[in-house]
Amino acid sequence: MIDVLTGNKNREAFELRINDLIQEDQKFTLLLTSIDKFATINDFYGHGCGDRVLVIVGQALEEIENLEVFRFSGSQFVVLILSQEMADIDFTIHEIRRCIRLKRLVHHIKADLTVSIGISQSTPSASIENYYNQLNLALRYARSEGKGETRFYNEEFEKKLFSEMALREDIDKAMRHDEFELYMQPLYHLDKRTVMGFELLLRWPGRNRIDLNIGEIIESAEKSGQIMALDKWVVTHAFKLIKEYKRIFSDKKICINISAQSFLTYDFLKFYLREEERYAIDPNLIEIEITEYSMMHNLKRTIRMMMIYKSRGIQFSLDDFGTKYSSINYLKELPFDTLKIDKSYIDSICEDSKSKAIVKIILDLCRELGLSTISEGIETVEQEILLKQMGCDFGQGYYFDKPMPITDLIQRVS
Ligand code: C2E
Ligand code: CA
Ligand code: CA
Repeated sequence: MIDVLTGNKNREAFELRINDLIQEDQKFTLLLTSIDKFATINDFYGHGCGDRVLVIVGQALEEIENLEVFRFSGSQFVVLILSQEMADIDFTIHEIRRCIRLKRLVHHIKADLTVSIGISQSTPSASIENYYNQLNLALRYARSEGKGETRFYNEEFEKKLFSEMALREDIDKAMRHDEFELYMQPLYHLDKRTVMGFELLLRWPGRNRIDLNIGEIIESAEKSGQIMALDKWVVTHAFKLIKEYKRIFSDKKICINISAQSFLTYDFLKFYLREEERYAIDPNLIEIEITEYSMMHNLKRTIRMMMIYKSRGIQFSLDDFGTKYSSINYLKELPFDTLKIDKSYIDSICEDSKSKAIVKIILDLCRELGLSTISEGIETVEQEILLKQMGCDFGQGYYFDKPMPITDLIQRVS
């Protein structure tokens, strides 16, 4: 019942010990301790080094008084203390972190050794399976907060995790069964009051009306990695619509929102170009909307990808400008064609002189740089008039039209 590599007790020993404690009605606390980024240590320094780290951490834990150590799989150790006092738990966490830091210095380990800790405490009638489950959830909770964090098992977190998992499954199912829809919001020339194009916006009727808005769904898909599949779904269905309703779309711009996570991959590029050919789409009609926030970590790569699309005639607009880390530098570095001024500025443009001043500067700058401008979220005639006076080229918003399904759009134009 000894772990061959580290010499700590193993999982079998753990189960025997816990079953004994359950029978004796003993109170205890379990700390699932896991080395952060252990896979990176293995990849970077080799498995020999990874093994050495495990042995050193296993030893370090054994040196702490008043606890028992068990090695689980991979980089996970479980520490058992026969107490539920906060002071004892705090002391144990402190000692675990201190010993590991010390060992790292003594053994000259280059890797940054930190551990995440998930905690579960004994409760009457809980089984060993309950403890495994709680420890894993608590560790996930700690990891979700970053490196070197500690979290207790928490029912709220468990519920949140389950609803996230359920949402992921629902999104997969909705993509398979085409439960999503694309709505269209017209973009207007502010001086001529004619439709210049449409922004395509995703809708999930089954959920949007009940509990979630599309922004939350996109955010969840970005977190889970499903966004690539969702963005591909949007591209295919957008192209299908354009092909089917040539009469409406022939000379209009179609703006598609794409997440940076997808946009920055060659996989998505290949998919996009294949679909473009399959549906015989004129690339000059398409404008891809991306947010500047999503690209700031990878400016060079963003420029490279944009240039590939642009060489084929596709245009780009910079979405949500004015929010988060908006930097004028992006306007200089990145080959955008259009800039979209965020709704938050338009909302207050008539009352707040500061918003108005900022929008004016953005519009002047865009004119100098040769970028066209779209104001989003225009809701009143006053906003429209002011933006037109200030020289904004295009506008969209509830004042003109709400996003609508293709059936409504057909009625509007016929
Ligand atoms: P966004 O790209 O900034 O889209 C504009 C949002 O403002 C849309 O919300 C639109 O319905 C809303 N809007 C337009 N005019 C008005 C107005 O006058 N008043 C108000 N209150 N709102 C207005 P929506 O459709 O809920 O989309 C939210 C966000 O979700 C989008 O923000 C975009 O970031 C993301 N999104 C939507 N569709 C897609 C998609 O197909 N793919 C990706 N990757 N993201 C999408
Ligand atoms: Ca957009
Ligand atoms: Ca926007």
